[in-house]
Amino acid sequence: MRPASFEYHRATSLDHALELLHQFGDEGRPIAGGQSLVPMMNFRLARPGHLVDINRLPLNVIEIDGPVLRIGALTRHIAYFDNPLIAKYFPAFLDAVHYIGHPTIRRNGSIGGSISHADPTAELPAVAVLYDADIVVRSLETTRKINAAEFFLSAYVTALEPGEMVVAIEFPLPPEAYTGSFVELSERSGDFGMASIGITLEFADGAITKAAMVCSGADLFPIRAPEIEEYLVGKPLASPGSAEAGAIFAASIDPADDHIASAEYRRGLIAELTRRAIDIACTRALERS
Ligand SMILES: Cc1cc2nc3c(=O)[nH]c(=O)nc-3n(C[C@H](O)[C@H](O)[C@H](O)COP(=O)(O)OP(=O)(O)OC[C@H]3O[C@@H](n4cnc5c(N)ncnc54)[C@H](O)[C@@H]3O)c2cc1C
Repeated sequence: MRPASFEYHRATSLDHALELLHQFGDEGRPIAGGQSLVPMMNFRLARPGHLVDINRLPLNVIEIDGPVLRIGALTRHIAYFDNPLIAKYFPAFLDAVHYIGHPTIRRNGSIGGSISHADPTAELPAVAVLYDADIVVRSLETTRKINAAEFFLSAYVTALEPGEMVVAIEFPLPPEAYTGSFVELSERSGDFGMASIGITLEFADGAITKAAMVCSGADLFPIRAPEIEEYLVGKPLASPGSAEAGAIFAASIDPADDHIASAEYRRGLIAELTRRAIDIACTRALERS
């Protein structure tokens, strides 16, 4: 299929992009890698009158900025694979990007695009929620930081207003004794996941002292699991009760039936992925202890 007609504008600076987005309001959309927007336009699920190409903006950075790791909105998925900061501080993030699509998609797709597109089973929105990241959003007049937990409102719906764009995502740097994992299952390798679980752990003296958990596939956006985060605190790394944690979490969710999986299948899958994610994170913590 062909897209509905639109006008193309190449932004030459961030200010230029923001001016164009301000001018076009509801009718304007940034285009980054085009890996989600172009298919949506071809199927006429999206019909922006004006595309603002942001690919020339200097938003392709991964850098420590005080207490956070700042990732520019145009950073491509492929950039994380050999990045020492991601490997050192964010193991669940690194696990997660291995599940994103295929090489072409990873070379073109950007974190700003993935976060703004807000596919309910995309990996990077889940990673942002897991790590309590802030989404840095600019418009012509304002800059605001939106916590990831408040950014994703529903499937493909975010807190972005017309005229705004994502410029960066800020991930708080973790303490020393810290690890994590991310696991996912999809029908075929490279497809969007049916469900995924991410875990981060802080630990001391062979036991978990703090935990975070995110799940995609149980709701219309990635959700945290506060009851499991609480359950894990104090558990020995050698026997964290991961199967029980999976069962408790699976009993608390209400996943949807769809053409890919029944609700019951998804519930069982989420229990198993929870078990695996906790076990992998605990094994990594033991190796670092
Ligand atoms: C076959 C296939 C398989 C895929 N598999 C996966 C997968 O397994 N996991 C996964 O996570 N993704 C997957 N994707 C999607 C891919 O990761 C996309 O690259 C990503 O979702 C969007 O990034 P993009 O830069 O291409 O965004 P674009 O397609 O350019 O834009 C997507 C949306 O975000 C908006 N946007 C872009 N940048 C910004 C910004 N800075 N600020 C505000 N709005 C912005 C656009 O206006 C548009 O609405 C797949 C895509 C395809 C085609």
